[in-house]
Amino acid sequence: MMNQCASDFGGWFAFAPHAFLAYRIAYFVKHGEMYLNLQAVSIAKSVYYQILHDLGLRQPECGGVLGMARNGVISTWYHDLTGKSSPTSYSPDVLAINSVLRDEWQPNGIKMAGIVHSHSTGKRVPSCGDINYGLRILDSLDTVDVFYLPILEIQPVVPNLFCYVIFRNSAGGRCKRIPYQIV
Ligand SMILES: [Zn+2]
Repeated sequence: MMNQCASDFGGWFAFAPHAFLAYRIAYFVKHGEMYLNLQAVSIAKSVYYQILHDLGLRQPECGGVLGMARNGVISTWYHDLTGKSSPTSYSPDVLAINSVLRDEWQPNGIKMAGIVHSHSTGKRVPSCGDINYGLRILDSLDTVDVFYLPILEIQPVVPNLFCYVIFRNSAGGRCKRIPYQIV
C-alpha cells in the first residue's frame, strides 16, 4: 500500500477499506459522482496569509486547523502551537483543538474542515500516514463529507500551498489535489 500511495499522486487512488461506517458507504455509492468533480475550495484571504505567516516562518513540520463557515468558505484558522513537531512529522494537539472546536467554533457555526501542515522543500503531497490520519478524522466527524489536507511546502523564499481533499467512497477512500481560490 505504501508503494501504491507513493506511485502517482496526480490521479486517483484507492485505499483498502477499513473501519468505516456502512451508512457512509451507502452515501458515497449514491452520491459519489459529485465528488469526482470537486470544485475549487475557497479560502479567505486572511486565513491564507495567516497560514503563510504561522507555518511559513517556522521549520517544518508544524500545522493547524481549518474552519469552514456556513457559506462553504474556509474562514477560520487555528494555529496548533502545542502540536508535536519534528523535521519529518506533525502530530496535532487533539485536546487543545477539541476545546477550540467546542468553545469557540461550534457556537459560531464554524465546522472543522481540514488540517494544514508544512513539509520540507520538495515534499508537496500528503504522505500515506497523513491521508490515513485524515480519513480517521473524517470518520469521526459527522459534520462534513470531505476533509481538506493542504500541504504548505516550505521553500527558501515563499512557501507554497498545495490543496488536497480526501473523502470516503465505495473503494475505501480517495485523495485528490484540488485548486483553491483566495477570496
Ligand atoms: Zn505530512
